[in-house]
Amino acid sequence: MRTPLVVGNWKMHGRLAEARELASGVRDGLKRPRGVEVALCPPFTALPAVAEVLTGSPIGWGAQNCHWEDTGAFTGEIGPGMLAELGCRFVILGHSERRHLFRETDDDIARKVAAALRHGLQPLLCVGETAEERRQGLTFTVVEGQLRAGWAGLRADEIARSVLAYEPVWAIGTGVNATPAQAAEVHGYLRGLVSELASKETAQSLRILYGGSVKPDNAAALTQQPDIDGALVGGASLQAQGFITIAKKSASRGGSSKE
Ligand code: PEP
Repeated sequence: MRTPLVVGNWKMHGRLAEARELASGVRDGLKRPRGVEVALCPPFTALPAVAEVLTGSPIGWGAQNCHWEDTGAFTGEIGPGMLAELGCRFVILGHSERRHLFRETDDDIARKVAAALRHGLQPLLCVGETAEERRQGLTFTVVEGQLRAGWAGLRADEIARSVLAYEPVWAIGTGVNATPAQAAEVHGYLRGLVSELASKETAQSLRILYGGSVKPDNAAALTQQPDIDGALVGGASLQAQGFITIAKKSASRGGSSKE
């Protein structure tokens, strides 16, 4: 039984006034979301303002990154305890922009995942292949490697408190989404791995989101696939109305959790 989850990744967008307006728009448009959980991940600087707007609403919030240490001489970094203190429910880790633009390694990501869990945050681990890797037939090899490395050393109960996102790099911010069949194939493969790495029960309950050019007009076709449990939304999460539509289209049919 998995309630779909739709997460807005605002990336480096959202000065305070814009962040308040966008979060208020989402809150007001999703007063009682049925069959879907929703969260917003603004930049660090907007987290307190967004938290203030969303407090008392069913919409959660989270961050886009964190460091693996709690505190220390790490100029410019933010520790997971600092995020927990702001009421964050989630932290996105291993996003391809962090992997490719900021050279984050699988080892860095694994340390961040473990640190997030220690602070009661749900790590939303992103995995996905580049266009070249897909062309070479390496999609499963790449996502498996990223998943095994990102969850290295975790106990089954820690894996059960996690969220996964399949984000093909070639689909992020390009307007070219994976087809529902392409995404479903990888999601099914990932779910099989979760079963191996944790348990069959965890594989049935763990949410695997799809991310990569999700828009209001393709959200239903993607998120109604049996193994796709919601969406990680970048560009389209910057417009309240569009994001609300994506959330509603991602809800389980009948407003109840899907198997
Ligand atoms: C993302 O950055 O996680 C993402 C999926 O971006 P977009 O929706 O813009 O492709």
